[in-house]
Amino acid sequence: MAMAAKQGEKAFRGIPVSNGVCRGKVFILNHRHVTIPREDVPEEKLSVEIDRLEEALIQTRKQILEVQRLVNEALGADQANIFEAHLLVLDDPSLIDGVTRQIQNEKVNVAYAYHCVAEKFIETLSKVDDEYLRERAKDLRDVTNRVLSNLLGRPLGNELQNLREPCIIISEDLTPSVTAVLDKKMVLGFATDVGSKTSHTAILARSLQIPAIVGLKDVSQQLQNGQFILLDGFTGHLIVNPSDQTLFEYGQLVRRQVSLQEHLREVKDLSATSLDGITLILSANVEQPSDTEAVQAFGAQGVGLFRTEYLFISRTTLPSEEEQYQALKQVAVALKPNPVVIRTLDLGGDKLLSHLQLPPEMNPSLGMRAIRYCLQEPGIFRRQLRAILRASAEGNLKMMYPMISGLGELNQANTLLEECKAELRREKIPFNPDMEVGVMIEVPSAVMIAEALAQKVAFFSLGTNDLIQYTLAVDRMNERIAHLYEPTHPAILRMIKKTIEAAHKHGIWVGVCGEMAADLNSTPLLLGLGVDELSVTPSQVPEIKFLIRRLKASESRELAAFALACDSGEEILKRSRALARQAAPNLFEEIEK
Ligand code: PEP
Ligand code: MG
Repeated sequence: MAMAAKQGEKAFRGIPVSNGVCRGKVFILNHRHVTIPREDVPEEKLSVEIDRLEEALIQTRKQILEVQRLVNEALGADQANIFEAHLLVLDDPSLIDGVTRQIQNEKVNVAYAYHCVAEKFIETLSKVDDEYLRERAKDLRDVTNRVLSNLLGRPLGNELQNLREPCIIISEDLTPSVTAVLDKKMVLGFATDVGSKTSHTAILARSLQIPAIVGLKDVSQQLQNGQFILLDGFTGHLIVNPSDQTLFEYGQLVRRQVSLQEHLREVKDLSATSLDGITLILSANVEQPSDTEAVQAFGAQGVGLFRTEYLFISRTTLPSEEEQYQALKQVAVALKPNPVVIRTLDLGGDKLLSHLQLPPEMNPSLGMRAIRYCLQEPGIFRRQLRAILRASAEGNLKMMYPMISGLGELNQANTLLEECKAELRREKIPFNPDMEVGVMIEVPSAVMIAEALAQKVAFFSLGTNDLIQYTLAVDRMNERIAHLYEPTHPAILRMIKKTIEAAHKHGIWVGVCGEMAADLNSTPLLLGLGVDELSVTPSQVPEIKFLIRRLKASESRELAAFALACDSGEEILKRSRALARQAAPNLFEEIEK
């Protein structure tokens, strides 16, 4: 969304997902309207440009046929047929003639001519009042992007590996696998058209400590490569051509942040204890073994969520048992004696592996995801369970299953776990037979049967990202309904309370590892509702701890009691936020725009 701004500036506002301010040059990734320079070509060289068009078409044809072959193998002829349409688009004589004519008439370079003609075709198709034809505009975009990439010698998706100077990435979207491998030295921040606070891309940005904004609608079409921008990951403002005054204000904010960081460092080795003596465990969410450095640096008391799927993402084959064991062992040893909660594989939803070639689903979040996938693929699951068990001999490892929706799944998973233990015993491979096993509570049905689950596991971890998505029927990835994604919705708070009551009744602890745990506005509520642990991105541990140390649990309990009787999520948020701001005002500083 574009906003009013100081003179000469243009400002946009999206959803802030990763704190920090950065400024630098724009790098547009996979831009729909890539700026392709127009170059004048002398008459005698025009035939070279036309030959280049032919070469690019041949190269693209080969690439499409290869993709078609792979899709055919994995998904069958039906799915592969769509590439027939791509081949037709590629060879469309009116498109090719249009480009050739423009090269000859205007004496311009082929990439420019191709881009202009393709854009005209796409625009015409997108305006047609026929859904089928409008969809074809997407095919056309796919194909023409591929041809342009070949003409420009820039293989699709490779752009980020060859950045020459630090920049801010602007893109329609970034997948978690691209985000996971961003080079922090070159990527100062990123902003995308789509996305929401709890999408995995946003979670990774926080983990990488890269300032980021999502849900900026069409910003990737409005900006151009090389423009100078300021990105404010605290408030979600993106400012093009920031004025001296704006830069000054942000300079002050950054200075205040630096001094706040100093205060936060002072609490590093202290416990997260409220003014009236209630102590919570503060753990960290991690994705990679290398994240353990940050866990220690920010003073987390272990890992509350190790998202093991990132050991599977960003590679072209599945990791072996040994590879997984080595990675988990590294974390267990580094953080010993602190606990490390390993979550078993949660593939699916927005975390997909292209090499697994899973069939497309209408509703991936409701589909073959997490424990469902593991139970369907016992070979993959067993390899992981064996690796976790083996690593349990090396440190204080705990394990939990994601997306448990009923007792049956828990029993099946535990049966496989027992079989793996028996195998390891036979093979005389050491493991901790008493490793604690817990479940994530992130599906409403799990809340409703929390008492039954609590009798079978050692702990609960509330995955509020999914619990909110599934309870409120709000896709956590969809920025168009982000306003409906409401952690303080009365239904969510009652779910959390019900889970805590069931757990405590049966003597087990409850953590929260979803992003709600890291939202300072929710901290008083979670403290008051009685959770035992919060697990957040390592860099967020100090501020949560700082706040808890300034809160009174008694006041938080009063707030929770009010919240459980209140019908308005807005009112609950307002009160919780007020309590947090009153306790630690300097944590909430930002530039009001
Ligand atoms: C959650 O759903 O809250 C959670 C922590 O799991 P993930 O974000 O990986 O789905
Ligand atoms: Mg989840």
